[in-house]
Amino acid sequence: MSTMRLIDGAEAHAPSGRPLAVVDVDEVVLQFIAPLAAFLERHGFRLEPRSFAITGNVTKIGGGQAIPSALVKELIDAFFRAEVESQPPVEGAVAALTRLAAYADVVLLTNVPAAQAERRAAHLGRLGLALPMIANEGSKGPALATLATAARARASGCPVIFVDDGPNHLAAARQAVEAIRLVHFVADPAWFAMAPEVGGTWLRTRDWGTVERAIGGLIGGDEAGLPIVGGGADA
Ligand SMILES: [Mg+2]
Repeated sequence: MSTMRLIDGAEAHAPSGRPLAVVDVDEVVLQFIAPLAAFLERHGFRLEPRSFAITGNVTKIGGGQAIPSALVKELIDAFFRAEVESQPPVEGAVAALTRLAAYADVVLLTNVPAAQAERRAAHLGRLGLALPMIANEGSKGPALATLATAARARASGCPVIFVDDGPNHLAAARQAVEAIRLVHFVADPAWFAMAPEVGGTWLRTRDWGTVERAIGGLIGGDEAGLPIVGGGADA
């Protein structure tokens, strides 16, 4: 039975006064790149790992040219309609988030298409997660600002952590929330290697154990010796 709660925007989250961890879903909690690439192959397209972007890197199998961005968007929408309930979890994510939720408010902030949000929440619930989830559109800055303001109104100086694979979302978070701890997390090894550096990043990793230790150290007040840039899962 699903215990995930799809909540109606950032205003709907009532902070408990504990530290706040806001966590993206695609390529952070659920695999995205690998199942998207497999879906594209089944439909005659290929995702070329040439740079950290989907648009501009999808080609028709047998042709070399990148397909137009409007078609990429259609294919991604089709991917979510077909696969939103079968995206595999990222290794270690469910266990780490479950432990983290024992001492922090964990909120999932995902840009899944609104039409698939309920199905995503149900899928995450079946994987064993019991967390609030917000279906966002566009920049994540405004939702993060609302969540952080409410958390710090309840508990001043409350640590706020944001975990996402998207450089644009991380940059928006840095602008939107003072002293936010940015975790740049990309599960896929090839895409992790291609991900551009984001200024102000606190931790860069593809390993949930590393994230959990860093957040535990932060919340426990013991940051000494923590890496600014973490290794990959194999490091
Ligand atoms: Mg993502």
